[in-house]
Amino acid sequence: MRAVSTSAVLTFGATLFLAANIFIAIHIYSIYTALHNDAVLINELGLIRGSVQRIANLELQKNSDASAQTIAMVDGVFDYYLRGAGHTSFVHFNADLVQHLHKMHTEWDDFKSSVEAYRLDPECFDAHFALSSAKLWGSSNYLLLHKVLNSDRKTNNIRLLLYYIGFLFFSTFLVLLVVKVGVRTMEYRSTHDALTNVGNRGAFDARLEEETLRLDRSGRPFSLCLLDIDHFKTINDNHGHAAGDGVLKKLAEYMRQALRKTDGLFRVGGEEFVVLAPDTDASQALALAEKLRSIVEQSFAQTATPLTISIGVAQCDTHTTPCDLYKNADMALYEAKRTGRNKVVVFQKKHITVERA
Ligand code: GH3
Ligand code: MG
Ligand code: MG
Repeated sequence: MRAVSTSAVLTFGATLFLAANIFIAIHIYSIYTALHNDAVLINELGLIRGSVQRIANLELQKNSDASAQTIAMVDGVFDYYLRGAGHTSFVHFNADLVQHLHKMHTEWDDFKSSVEAYRLDPECFDAHFALSSAKLWGSSNYLLLHKVLNSDRKTNNIRLLLYYIGFLFFSTFLVLLVVKVGVRTMEYRSTHDALTNVGNRGAFDARLEEETLRLDRSGRPFSLCLLDIDHFKTINDNHGHAAGDGVLKKLAEYMRQALRKTDGLFRVGGEEFVVLAPDTDASQALALAEKLRSIVEQSFAQTATPLTISIGVAQCDTHTTPCDLYKNADMALYEAKRTGRNKVVVFQKKHITVERA
């Protein structure tokens, strides 16, 4: 259940992160396209502005051919933006711009008519010619500067968005990391005993179920060793509860070191532990239990709190239910306690007591 919610949280976070990035990427792309269009337009506006002066100069020099070529070029620019492909791409997003271009086009027509008038009567290089050219130059210059400033703003926006993406990457990574570590810690705490850090009762039940399923498939038996400290109450009474806790921690550590990685060690009661040994029959489990008993006895012998343990062993085969298995181990443990403690007893129909060496 917890594993599902972990992956759900991570998937949700990752999806959100992806969606935010896709949104920003689309936004950046549209700004980039607008920037490209702006650059083209700035170039064209510069061309119109320069052409006004050039045409005036060419007309004064009576170079009508060159002047006509320049006029045709500017006509082409207006055509492109007011009727051609430029119009199609600009009109939806730049209504103001199109309006301004129309105004400039009117001024352009006025300028052209002043050029025509000048050609017909060179004496009439008068206020009309000068005024119309100045007007057009001013309009194109205004629009050009406006576009340059606008492009600067867009470039800044892109920079901000890139910073934002960086921040988003970093913060999402951090959040996912914190969630992952938090969930892992919660998972660990929910399956481990806080004092000894070995598996807890819930983890034991889960492992027992897992091993039972494996047994159903493979037919290979596994075994339980149920351990209980002998006269633990005396340790608490004589040395205090804290010392008793210390003993439990040490005991768990000694056993953990003695066991294989595949064996499970769980604390199932105050001073009771279970070892679940997979692929292990009763006689192998007896050897394992005897080893544990002996290690514990020797490890604590020279300490302020010498102690021993009693162990009940039971094998699980295809005829045993998990519930019976635990009961059998418990009965064997009870027998070990009843017959003197510090010993291992293997459950059978009739208990076989194995005395320590
Ligand atoms: P026996 O040989 O029959 O097992 O004797 P015992 O004294 O070990 O048995 P009993 O089950 O009567 O007592 C267990 C004691 O373990 C009682 C309780 O105070 C102590 N105990 C249980 N949990 C903890 C714990 O977490 N820390 C400490 N220090 N003591 C605990
Ligand atoms: Mg007990
Ligand atoms: Mg005890």
